[in-house]
Amino acid sequence: MNNLDTYIRRMPKVELHVHLEGSVQPETLLKLARRHHISLPAESVEGIREWYTFHDFEHFVEIYMTISSCLRSADDIELIAREFLAGQAQQNILYSEVTFTPYNQFVNCRLGFHEQLDAVNRARSWAEKELGVRMGMIIDIPRERSPEIGEQVATWVIDRYGDGVIALGLAGPEQGNPPLKFREAFNRVRNKGIPRIVHAGETVGPSSIWNALEVADPARIGHGVRAIEDPNLMDYLKRTQLPLEVCPTSNICLRVFPSLKAHCLPELMKQGLRVSINSDDPPMFNTTLVGEYRAGTKTFGWDRVILRDLVINAVDVTLLPNAERHEMLEKFNKDFAALESGPE
Ligand SMILES: [Zn+2]
Repeated sequence: MNNLDTYIRRMPKVELHVHLEGSVQPETLLKLARRHHISLPAESVEGIREWYTFHDFEHFVEIYMTISSCLRSADDIELIAREFLAGQAQQNILYSEVTFTPYNQFVNCRLGFHEQLDAVNRARSWAEKELGVRMGMIIDIPRERSPEIGEQVATWVIDRYGDGVIALGLAGPEQGNPPLKFREAFNRVRNKGIPRIVHAGETVGPSSIWNALEVADPARIGHGVRAIEDPNLMDYLKRTQLPLEVCPTSNICLRVFPSLKAHCLPELMKQGLRVSINSDDPPMFNTTLVGEYRAGTKTFGWDRVILRDLVINAVDVTLLPNAERHEMLEKFNKDFAALESGPE
């Protein structure tokens, strides 16, 4: 392991685009399936690990839905939230803004939203006290569902905003499900001053991002990498500094780009767009946030200065209240200064 790898592991980090259900490790999935007598495509950890690793988009959806179907109680939710936070702590990710799709569990087994969020909040309190890491939840609309379901999710977000909930999200299959479909849901939370975060410009091109801007006025765009196809959109994103949550390995796995070398991330950075680095659904894409930064050093030649800038960029665009964000920036700057004064 070289010095830059160690630096990446030790640097303080935040993560802005990571899915709670998409972070469940194969071992845990096996445990949950046994708990509820659900049969999985394999019964050993090795078998699950193999099945678990991404093959194509349909397979990705199959894994995601299988995970959701194994989440059948508040205890299950608390377990995966605790394990997620422990994994973030191991990587020195001090704060995460995490996308969570309670609607799937609600529809699979009538597990109520409030019960699910209470379970997440128990894990949050535990992690803050025991591990010194925090998270806020972006409750997302599964966009393949109806506009009415979108409004139901918006109601949940409004009910619990500030109690672990930090935003309304939109995720799932982008094709055929533009942000426009959920205009009402976005309007309702917008009227309450609650932030919106929208997956756009991943499997659909610039039109999806333009639509998100128009309909949702989002605080950040999830992915947004296909803005590269539209110079006017690139200009707009540069001018407004609207943050993009870039998930490089996810984009390779989902064939948005053929390889990391061919990814537009260096170009987005060169053109002055505001980007952060994220892992999306780490075990499915066989990655971690640490792994994403390491891949950046290997493929794009990032040095310590660039790594620090990317981390600070991410802190800057968190949804934390101003005072907390400034406090975190100060802490991160101190931590980086301490890292710099350490051995090369
Ligand atoms: Zn995502």
